[in-house]
Amino acid sequence: MLQENEILRVENLSASIPFKNGPIICIDGVSFSLLAGQTLGIIGERESGKSSLLISILGQFERVMQFRLASAQKMRLMSCRIPPPTQIPTSDDWIGCASGKVLYNGEVITQEHLGGISFVPEDNQQNVAFEFVRRERDMGVTLRSDDYPSHLIELRDKAIALFGLEEFVSRARKGKLEAATLKANQFRKIRIIEALMADPKLLLIDQPTDMLEVTEIRQLIDLLTYAQEMINLSVIVTSNDVSFFTNFLDRIAILYAGRIVEVGSTEATIFEPLHPYTKNLMASNPAVIMMYKRRGMKIRLRGIHDRHIDSTTLPSGCVFNPQCEIATDLCRTSRPNFKEFGNDRWVSCHHC
Ligand code: SF4
Repeated sequence: MLQENEILRVENLSASIPFKNGPIICIDGVSFSLLAGQTLGIIGERESGKSSLLISILGQFERVMQFRLASAQKMRLMSCRIPPPTQIPTSDDWIGCASGKVLYNGEVITQEHLGGISFVPEDNQQNVAFEFVRRERDMGVTLRSDDYPSHLIELRDKAIALFGLEEFVSRARKGKLEAATLKANQFRKIRIIEALMADPKLLLIDQPTDMLEVTEIRQLIDLLTYAQEMINLSVIVTSNDVSFFTNFLDRIAILYAGRIVEVGSTEATIFEPLHPYTKNLMASNPAVIMMYKRRGMKIRLRGIHDRHIDSTTLPSGCVFNPQCEIATDLCRTSRPNFKEFGNDRWVSCHHC
C-alpha cells in the first residue's frame, strides 16, 4: 500500500544483460520506497548492481547497457566481464531483460516524470552520451544564465561558493568552458549543479565518492543538505563506503549481488547490523570501526573476502550462502523473504 508522502516506490525490479551464454544478472527483485524529503543510501561493493539499479529506476537500463557494450567493442576494452563481439546481444535479445514496477508519486514512471528527477551518472562518458543529461554545447549554461527562478539562483550561488567554482563561472560567462578541458572532479561538480538547476523533486547520484576528494564530498553533503531544506529534495546516493554519508542519510539499503539484503535507518544499519553480509561489510571498513570505537563498541577490523561473484551463475537460495558462516541447508535451497524488525527495518535472512 502506498504510504502518504511517498515519492518513489520500487517493486520487484530486476534487470539482466542477455548474453548468448546466459544472462548476467545485474539486479534481482529489488523493492524499496522513499518518502518526499528523505535521503537513502544504496551501499554495496563494486559490481553489486548500484548503477544498474539507478538506471533501471529511470527505465534506461537497456539503453545504457547497449551503449556501454558498443563502447567497449569500439574501444577494444574487453574485460573478462564483457564477452567478445559475437556474443553481443541483438535488439530482440533485450526484450524482457528488465522487469518490475517503479512508481513516482503513486504513478507508474514514464518519460514525463523524468522532468522531476535528476540523475548524476557514475562516469563522465555517460554524461556526454545520453540525452537525459547535458550535451557538450550546453556546458556552462547553468553556471552563466540567470534565467532561473530566484530559489535556484540562490541554490546555484551556494553550490558555486561551496565547490569553489567562481573561476568556472567566469569562464562560462565568456563562453570558454569546454568539457574536454575539465578534470573529472570539476566535471562532476558542475554536473551536480546542472542536476540541481533542473529543480528536481528527486536526485539520484551514482558513486559521488569516486571522483571527489574527501573535502569535496563534505562540500557535496553540505550542498545536498542545503538543497533538501530549500526544495524538500529527496536523494538517493550510491556508494561503496557508508562512512562518508552517515550524518546525511536517513536510511540505508545494503545491496549484495543485485539483491537488497537489509534496509533500515542509518543508525541501526551501521551500529546494529543484522544481516551477516552487512556485519561483514561494516567490520571491514576502517572508518566504521573508528565510529564503533568512539562509541565504546569493541570490534576488530576484519577483511572481507575479495571474491568474484559470477552473475551468470548466482547460487541458489540465499545469494550470500557460499560466504556465510552460519549458512544451513535451508539457505542453500530457499531464497529468504524479508522480515520486519520494527521501525521500518527489513532483513532478508533465514536466521536473523
Ligand atoms: S539466509 Fe542463510 S546464508 Fe543467507 S545470510 Fe542468512 S544465514 Fe547466511
